[in-house]
Amino acid sequence: MTSLKNKKVLITGGTSGIGLGIANVFAKQDADLFLIGISPMENITKTLDDLSSLGSGSVTYEQINMCDLKSLEDHDILKNNTFDILINNAGMQYVSPIVDFPMEKYHQVMNLNLHAPFVLMQNILPMMRKNGWGRIINIASAHGLVASANKSAYCATKHGILGMTKVIALETASENITCNAICPGWVLTPLVEDQIHARAEANKTTYDEEKYLLLSEKQPSPEFTTTDSIGAMCLLLCSEAGSQMRGSCITMDAGWTAQ
Ligand code: NAD
Repeated sequence: MTSLKNKKVLITGGTSGIGLGIANVFAKQDADLFLIGISPMENITKTLDDLSSLGSGSVTYEQINMCDLKSLEDHDILKNNTFDILINNAGMQYVSPIVDFPMEKYHQVMNLNLHAPFVLMQNILPMMRKNGWGRIINIASAHGLVASANKSAYCATKHGILGMTKVIALETASENITCNAICPGWVLTPLVEDQIHARAEANKTTYDEEKYLLLSEKQPSPEFTTTDSIGAMCLLLCSEAGSQMRGSCITMDAGWTAQ
């Protein structure tokens, strides 16, 4: 087991879905968690209490709209803390043929999925250098490696974050700081549930039918990847086993991109 006592971990989108799965795993290792999300504090009090009860570390939450890059960059959370581990996880999806893609949505997806991780890495890397240790993990997607129709903005950001991951890995190659990415396939989270509901409505099918179709269209395995398994992979990247993993794009995609 990797004790993360006294390690300060920033997880964006850490109160829902994959981010919460990662937060659960790190809380159990007694890390001090700093979570950023879009939800108002009153909606997630129970989530934060549950996380606090898992270990001896602290849990801090900040509501920040990360699409607003200036607010993110100027936020006190970056001024008042020194982070050891950064997990760029928050992300959004918007599905539309490119000819109908609203520019506003395009910019939101770009800012949240790609530009905000850039801002955070730019600000937090110097803190890690001062400490002489750091781990950066970017939650990309199978859509960082292959494409699907109607996901132009999302696929662009996920391909982009893999490129950025490799660059940061090279820039830190002689330091005790690593930067890697995880590329999940389908994980049953609110982001995916919204897509299943939208498909069921468009195709006049049921939620369960669309859930089955969604998995079988892309994955040889008919199972969702779990948030717990992604948390466990993040922990591995922070352990001795991950010390020379640099610029890796780790697929956890139920065989999606092996075909
Ligand atoms: P989710 O919708 O469950 O959670 C998204 C999180 O991001 C939430 O905590 C939310 O508060 C936060 N967030 C959303 N908009 C924000 C904003 N403007 N500012 C700050 N925070 C914001 O999503 P998820 O499915 O857990 O996805 C997490 C990451 O994993 C994303 O980057 C996503 O692209 C990636 N991913 C998900 C899947 C999947 O199948 N669910 C597959 C591959 C990759």
